Amino acid sequence: MNKIESFKINHLKLLPGIYVSRKDYINNEVLTTFDLRITAPNREPVMNTAEIHAIEHLAATFLRNKLENEVIYFGPMGCRTGFYLILVGDKKSEDIVDLIKELFKFILDYEGDIPGQSPKDCGNYSDMNLDIAKYYSKKYLKVLNSITKENLIYPE
Ligand SMILES: [Zn+2]
Repeated sequence: MNKIESFKINHLKLLPGIYVSRKDYINNEVLTTFDLRITAPNREPVMNTAEIHAIEHLAATFLRNKLENEVIYFGPMGCRTGFYLILVGDKKSEDIVDLIKELFKFILDYEGDIPGQSPKDCGNYSDMNLDIAKYYSKKYLKVLNSITKENLIYPE
């Protein structure tokens, strides 16, 4: 079988940042998949599932409320170093820097019950860690606040 595009990225050089992972052309629409990379792959500890889960619930809620029909998907990478965001439209990584800053500021400032954190609404509702989700949000915001080309375009 052919190696898929996301396994062709040089993870040894990849930094935390925002990258365009792929574009899909379906009928007359373009979908852009973004790689929101939170930790440096194979060089920093990965996130645990509890903080990934808290970020997933908060981010999905924030993005779907803010963008409504533009959001196709938000979810974690299996390697636990980041998330994928799929939006409608032909976009560049620069286009969503402000949106992603706003999103992680929202998580950093979040207080109270996490949306969907109940046994009726979620398949593993007790597995959430908002404090560590905030730790990673703060760390990622530092990257986003001084973002350079190396954090926006995949390395060679
Ligand atoms: Zn859940």
